[in-house]
Amino acid sequence: MSIARSDSSIFETVESEVRSYCRSWPVVFDRARGSHMYDEWGRPYLDFFTGAGTLNYGHNNPVLKRALLDYLGRDGVTHALDMSTVAKRAFLGAFRDTILLPRGMDHKVMFTGPTGTNAVEAALKLARKVTGRKDIIYFTNAFHGVSLGSLAVTANAVKRAGAGIPLVNSTEMAFDNGLSDEAPRLLGLERLLDDRGPGPARPAAVIVETVQGEGGVHVARIEWLRDLASLCKRHGMLLIIDDIQMGCGRTGDFFSFERAGIIPDVITLSKAVSGYGLPLALTLFKPELDVWKPGEHNGTFRGNNPAFVTATAALQTYWTDGQLEKQVLLRSEQIEVAFRAITAHRPDVSYRGCGLVWGLDFQNRNVASKVAERSFELGLLVETVGPDDEVVKLLPPLTITPEELGEGLSILGRAVHEAGTASEDSLPI
Ligand code: PLP
Repeated sequence: MSIARSDSSIFETVESEVRSYCRSWPVVFDRARGSHMYDEWGRPYLDFFTGAGTLNYGHNNPVLKRALLDYLGRDGVTHALDMSTVAKRAFLGAFRDTILLPRGMDHKVMFTGPTGTNAVEAALKLARKVTGRKDIIYFTNAFHGVSLGSLAVTANAVKRAGAGIPLVNSTEMAFDNGLSDEAPRLLGLERLLDDRGPGPARPAAVIVETVQGEGGVHVARIEWLRDLASLCKRHGMLLIIDDIQMGCGRTGDFFSFERAGIIPDVITLSKAVSGYGLPLALTLFKPELDVWKPGEHNGTFRGNNPAFVTATAALQTYWTDGQLEKQVLLRSEQIEVAFRAITAHRPDVSYRGCGLVWGLDFQNRNVASKVAERSFELGLLVETVGPDDEVVKLLPPLTITPEELGEGLSILGRAVHEAGTASEDSLPI
């Protein structure tokens, strides 16, 4: 099917070369609702990208939109730095009552600047301040953001090279390899700790995603996460779980670490926390770690009041009755069944995932990008991730219907079929 041409010249002449996703999907989007985005000619695209896991409740979710419109309509405060507002009070109460208390958590909530990397920077700074140590452990394929502190704990070599200065005070260790071998699972980290001894050379913290999103959809095993948590405890290192992409229900539970039964010292949340795509980021930490002095870590856009309103509505709508979690598991099974069929006669393709984050690993960036391109032509948005962009990642809205999911999966199956294999010279796209 041919895609109507849009006037994109202003993006090419005025906007920086740094733009990226618009290069994968060269249309001009105009409207969005639920699981669909529409280009300016009205053509629908099923969205299995959802702002890299930001739109867990779909685009312009009507319940959240109503709450937002009511708030704006009554001239509710839009900007107030970190002053106390009615909207912030309602959010903190809802977050405590629906998320923290039912999980036996008493973490303090810190509002950082509005993007994920701001929450990570705050987490790293706090860990160093609390422990008086410098080094942070991160893992292969980790992605934690692109500001300098976060970049120092991000594994991707191309992204790191962009720093232009040495990225220091961080050490990379191997992420869970998924093998149930008999060898101690965190041997490398144990050895490093033995070498460094108990002094200040010991790391301040370990930062980890329980499921690596940008790094290629790698799901850490429960035992590995538990071992990591107990290792951190034994050695006085803080455990920071970066739940920016995998939190807010993406893996089924509200927090992605719940499946392992661990409680991290520090948690970062952003992306889907406002529920509506409005910028909001939180760093949560155990109360005894709250050593900040007033204003010591600040920023103009901490606590976005319209985002508090939609976040509160999202918590009240989706996190009080357990229905969303059940729905995510059902849709997850639907994807797994489809992926089993898609990969059945393709030894070159494997799949992994959980909840509503899944990846098809083509081990070849050309094939993965052809699948993503063909999906787009057929009306489906999927991105490629992994160190070499070799994995096609699915992040559909958690609220997607089984019919929409089925439609997207059949488009994907067709795209995989038509993209062929790496060894085929002439590809039919
Ligand atoms: N941490 C994780 C796990 C992420 O996936 C991302 C973004 O994809 C970030 C941090 C950085 O968030 P932001 O792009 O909002 O700064």
